[in-house]
Amino acid sequence: MHHHGLQNIKFLVSFNLDKYGYILEWTDEGYLIFNIFLQRYYLKKYFASFSETFYGLKRVTIINSKTGLQEKLSHKQQILSLILIVTFPYLKNKLMQLSLKYKLQKIDSTSREKRQKFFSKCVIKGLSILFITYETLTLYNYILYVSEKSIYPSLLLRLLSVTLTYADPQSALTITELLRKIKYNSFTVCDGWNILQRIVTGSLELGAFFLQFLSWWNQENYDMDIMSLPAPPPPKVPNVAQQYKGICPLCRKPHHIHTVLMISGYIFCYECILSEIRIKKKCPVTHYPAREDDLIRLYIE
Ligand SMILES: [Zn+2]
Repeated sequence: MHHHGLQNIKFLVSFNLDKYGYILEWTDEGYLIFNIFLQRYYLKKYFASFSETFYGLKRVTIINSKTGLQEKLSHKQQILSLILIVTFPYLKNKLMQLSLKYKLQKIDSTSREKRQKFFSKCVIKGLSILFITYETLTLYNYILYVSEKSIYPSLLLRLLSVTLTYADPQSALTITELLRKIKYNSFTVCDGWNILQRIVTGSLELGAFFLQFLSWWNQENYDMDIMSLPAPPPPKVPNVAQQYKGICPLCRKPHHIHTVLMISGYIFCYECILSEIRIKKKCPVTHYPAREDDLIRLYIE
C-alpha cells in the first residue's frame, strides 16, 4: 500500500509539475504523517494495519511459539507495530534515495576529493550489503513460513513476536437489513458510521487501483511514443538567403548548373563557385572555409 500511495502522488504531480512540484519535495514526510494517523486508527480498531484489514487479517501476540498459543495484541505491541509499520518503509525509501544519490554523484563528478570519493564508495557498498542482507533474510523467513517451519509471515512480525490470523468476519450490513432498519426506525449512528467507513475504504481501494491502472496506461503509451518524437524545427532562414532566391550569389543571374556548397547551403553556378573556391577557399556569402570537395551538383532541372 505505502509504495502505491507514493506512486500515485508522484503520478498526479507529474501532470502539473510547475504547479505542484513542491509537493514532491515533501511527499515522503507528508505521507509519513498521513500514514501514522491511518495506521494508528486501524491498529486501534482492528488490531491490524490498513492493508491487513483489507485482506481480513488481524495481528495476534504469540505467547508460546511451540504450541502457537495466541493472545490479543497488547497496547505496547500496538505502539511497536505502529512504529514499525510506519517508519520501516519510510527509512527504506530514504536509504534507497541516498544510495541512488551517491551513485549519481559517482557518475557525475570526475575530479573529486579522494576522501569524499572513498566515503561515497563506502556508503554505496554499505547500503547495498544492507539491502541484500535484508532481502535474503526476507526470502529465508518466507520459505520457513511457507513450509510451515515458522509462524511469522514477515521479518517485522517476527521481531514483534506477532503473527497474523483471520479476523472475525465483521457483521456487514446488507441492503435488506438496512431497509428494514430504516423502516422500523432502528437505524443508529453506529450503523451510519459503519456504512460510511466501508464506502471510504472501498473507494480508497478502487481509487488506488484506478490510479495504478492510469499510471500503467501512461507508461505503456510513453514507451510507444518514444519512437515517434517530433523532429526538431529546421534552423531559421537568414535574411541574406532571401535575396539570392533563384539566382547565383556570384553572377546574380539564374543558376547555370545548380551546385550547392555543402558547408553553407547556398546554391551557385558550377563555373562561378568553382573558380571562387579555388582562389579564396571560402564561401563567398558566409565566409565559412570551404574546399572543392564541399561542392555537390544538384539535379533539379
Ligand atoms: Zn553564377
